[in-house]
Parts: sequence; C-alpha cells; structure tokens
Amino acid sequence: MTATERAVRIARTASDGRRYFQTFRVPCGPRTTVLDALLYIHRQLDRTLAFRYACRQAMCGTCGVRVNGVERLACYTLLGAVPGRVVTVEPLRHLPVIRDLVVDFGPFFLAWAAVKPAFTPADQSRAEPAQIPPADPDRQAIDRHRECISCGLCYSACDVVGSRPSFPGPAALNHALCLVLDRRDGAGPDRLRAVDGPDGCWACRGLLACSDVCPKGLAPSGAIEKLKRLIAFGRRWDGVAV
Ligand code: SF4
Repeated sequence: MTATERAVRIARTASDGRRYFQTFRVPCGPRTTVLDALLYIHRQLDRTLAFRYACRQAMCGTCGVRVNGVERLACYTLLGAVPGRVVTVEPLRHLPVIRDLVVDFGPFFLAWAAVKPAFTPADQSRAEPAQIPPADPDRQAIDRHRECISCGLCYSACDVVGSRPSFPGPAALNHALCLVLDRRDGAGPDRLRAVDGPDGCWACRGLLACSDVCPKGLAPSGAIEKLKRLIAFGRRWDGVAV
C-alpha cells in the first residue's frame, strides 16, 4: 500500500443478512473525507456498497456513521486524521441495519413522538407567529439548543438508548427543551410531564457521550439537565418562565 492510500474496513451485509467486514484500499489526500472514501469505493471498486449522503457539508445529517467506534458525519471527517492503521466504518447503533451502512431511522423519529414535538401556539387567535428578537434572553436560551440536524449521532452514542429503548434519546429531549423555553408555545407543562418519569429525562446518567459527538456543537446533555431542573423547580429557572 502506498503512503497516499488508507485501508478502509467497512461493515457489510450479505444477501442472507449476515454481517461481515470488507477492507478496501482508498487514495487519501489532505482533504479526503470518509465520505469521499465511500464514494470512491462505490464508483471504482464495489457498486453494491450501500450508504447515505446528501449535502456533503454537514448540514443535512444524512451521512452519520461510526468511524473507529466514534459517531461522525462521514462528510465532515478527514480520512487522514482518523488515528490507527485501519479506518473502520460501521452503521449507527440502536437502529435496525437495512444494508451495509444504511440504518432505519424509524425508532429515532418515533422517539420524538414521546416528547410532544409539535409547536402548540399559546395564542391560537394570532394570524402570524409572534417574533422573538435575537437579543431577547429567552431567544438566546433557546438558540443554545437549536440547529439540531437530526443526524442521530447522539442517539447512537447514548448507552442509555441501548439499554432502555423507551428512552427518547438526547436529540428528542433537546427538541423538547427548545419548545419548553419558547414562550409562544402553550404546551410546556404538558411537555414537561411527558418527559418526566423513569423512561424520560431522569433515565439520563449524564455520560455526556451525546454532547461529545454532536457535529453542530450542541449540548443535548445540558438540555436534559435543564429539563430536570425545570421539572424539579417547576416555576422559573434560568430567567425563563414555564
Ligand atoms: Fe445530531 Fe447533535 Fe441533533 Fe444529536 S443533537 S441529532 S448529534 S445535531
């Protein structure tokens, strides 16, 4: 293998459903990403390799995989920067594998239903949504937890999701907090009741794996802690009325 190649070991699915690993040699330049490596394999070496991608700029959240055991967006991970002799690429955890690196996101999005994810206007008579200026402290509190791209990396990294499938997971609870903090939403107390309980935010053990892997720099673990405080104190906390 030349100095500009890397060995990429990929989790594959046989036609009978058996899982196995297959290793390919891929050219690696200074800007080559893991997604570039997957595209090279698909175009040049094996057209049957299955994986997902779309925007190629860490905006759509489609290309999430595990790279050497750590959840990453393939388009946002430089192949040459991955430590180790071999780069192992596997599908996300806690989701059924459809084929190779493609998983079924059904359980991830079904979990969102548990946190009452739909915005519920507090003032149903308004024709237009009320606007909250960027400088508003309430808006700033929400902005720290927005911009989730539903990539599922945190869901895969969370060991609680693996051991307790009814736990909604970090992304869903992060979304719940965004709505709870939004004073235009009228379902905050209902939503807090929905995430209260042993299968809700109290199942989180604060392992922080979710925040470590979030490609948008969010802190879903911090959002879960805020939900716990809002449930425990019930009224005002962090300057925000609930
Ligand atoms: Fe992905 Fe971060 Fe959203 Fe989790 S919170 S789904 S890691 S963007």
